[in-house]
Amino acid sequence: MSIHKLDLRVIPQVAATESLLRQRVADELAIAPRRIQSVRITRSSIDARQRQVMVNLTLTVYIDEPAPALPYTEITYPDVEGQPQVIVVGAGPAGLFAALRLIEHGLRPIVLERGKDVHERKKDIALISRQSIVNPESNYAFGEGGAGAYSDGKLYTRSTKRGDVSRILAIFCQHGASTDILSAAHPHIGTDRLPRVIENMRNTILRCGGEVRFNTRVDRLILSGDSVRGVITAQGDEVLGPVILATGHSARDVYRMLCQEGVELEAKGLAIGVRLEHPSEMIDRIMYHSREGRGPWLPAAEYRLTAQSSGRGVYSFCMCPGGFVIPAATGPEQVVVNGMSPAARNSRWSNSGIVVEVRPEDLQSFGTPPTRGSGEGVCLSMLALQEELERQCWLQANRRQTAPAQRMTDFVNKRLSADLPTTSYAAGLIASPLHFWMPRFLTDRLREAFLLWGRHHHGFLTNEATVIAIETRTSAPVRIVRDGQSLQHIRVKGLYPCGEGAGYAGGIVSAAIDGERCADALTTRQ
Ligand SMILES: Cc1cc2nc3c(=O)[nH]c(=O)nc-3n(C[C@H](O)[C@H](O)[C@H](O)COP(=O)(O)OP(=O)(O)OC[C@H]3O[C@@H](n4cnc5c(N)ncnc54)[C@H](O)[C@@H]3O)c2cc1C
Repeated sequence: MSIHKLDLRVIPQVAATESLLRQRVADELAIAPRRIQSVRITRSSIDARQRQVMVNLTLTVYIDEPAPALPYTEITYPDVEGQPQVIVVGAGPAGLFAALRLIEHGLRPIVLERGKDVHERKKDIALISRQSIVNPESNYAFGEGGAGAYSDGKLYTRSTKRGDVSRILAIFCQHGASTDILSAAHPHIGTDRLPRVIENMRNTILRCGGEVRFNTRVDRLILSGDSVRGVITAQGDEVLGPVILATGHSARDVYRMLCQEGVELEAKGLAIGVRLEHPSEMIDRIMYHSREGRGPWLPAAEYRLTAQSSGRGVYSFCMCPGGFVIPAATGPEQVVVNGMSPAARNSRWSNSGIVVEVRPEDLQSFGTPPTRGSGEGVCLSMLALQEELERQCWLQANRRQTAPAQRMTDFVNKRLSADLPTTSYAAGLIASPLHFWMPRFLTDRLREAFLLWGRHHHGFLTNEATVIAIETRTSAPVRIVRDGQSLQHIRVKGLYPCGEGAGYAGGIVSAAIDGERCADALTTRQ
């Protein structure tokens, strides 16, 4: 009886076919295949640099002994009924993981969420595309699961702490995600599977004695000197306790409320640009260097592209192979796009945000200076820029959720497109001269990057691809500044700004990690 760790480089068909993989492992270890009880893939990545695409696998092989039932360690959550309560505002990844962690520590979370439960949300999301109606409390960003619920569910992060990442992935698995995410180099859950996982997390919170209140927007903090004592909801209810504020990057009313309450914030750089959509077959052919595209054994191809232009980074962001472009507005007079994909990544299109780094000091370079936030001081200046660009986009879209768009080569050549390719964007596109009305700070850099990538990846710069405006919600426009040690707000004790909205995370996994960190920090101070 033994367990072997093995690194193998195989063709995609072998990686995808259990019997072939088992045979290959047996050959490698020079043993009879029947002695192999289980082959577990612990790491898998596609190497598409050469004409023959290969898959690099790290395997755990169980010889003459069975593999353990689960490839991760389950967490036992205790009953926290009657224990001291902690308010968690927002049921996105940061809030949900904070709540679960509080339970592990024996504290009772009360999760207050402005939106509806993850299933009810679907109806409001459908109305955005079908009727251009945006419910400001229930949309692609607001509601149970937060912005992560109807997303791609990509679980990559730049966090280098593997232990933290594995823990988050294991908790997703414990709540119903496929264990494939534990091994894939680029794990993703898929928008079709995320709602069930999120619902299971909520059920864990409820089963352990925590609370989750939907349709409960927090409108104010209860402050007493330099401490927070609790919150006041839109219904006028007071809820008392320390506060983990995990409201995401789209809760602009929360930023404004904090400003009014005198809670210190600062403007933060972000990235702004467009969604670029190609036929997925085209991206498969380009990235897998094959006329046949991905063939039967490979997933829809991904890309990650970067460039530098006039001192600012331009890069692909949140790529969704085989996915959909979606309307991500959270309020009136906004058009803003984003992307998502189902687990199978099998739509006819592949899209990605292509965004330009923007810093607060760049604001003067924008043709139309932000006006709406001017009375609110510099800390909301980047937020005002987002609002202004989203409003311009909405005006270009005839005040609907139709998104302004241009063929890619036309954009580069500064020509209005006579017509547009078919699209996954259900609300529909309208031909618009993006090169003309978007700020040159963005369009000049995007053009330069498109030309560069077109030279490096033959066929990438094409009029079969569509440039869709506008992608502004890449991260928070504000940082709610906190103390590095205690993770409390720099001045207001008992207030834990958390996750993406606080400016301390970007993406599902890093928001989840930050949620856990805030729960840990709060517990130490209890
Ligand atoms: C379409 C789309 C696709 C994406 N795809 C990916 C992806 O594939 N991979 C990835 O890593 N990231 C992706 N992201 C980003 C990711 O979703 C976010 O980084 C992540 O959700 C941030 O988590 P969070 O908990 O900090 O905030 P959020 O997820 O934004 O959650 C905040 C929650 O707070 C609630 N809230 C706000 N204000 C209040 C209030 N006043 N009172 C009560 N509740 C309030 C909101 O309703 C929301 O539920 C995507 C985002 C979008 C929009």
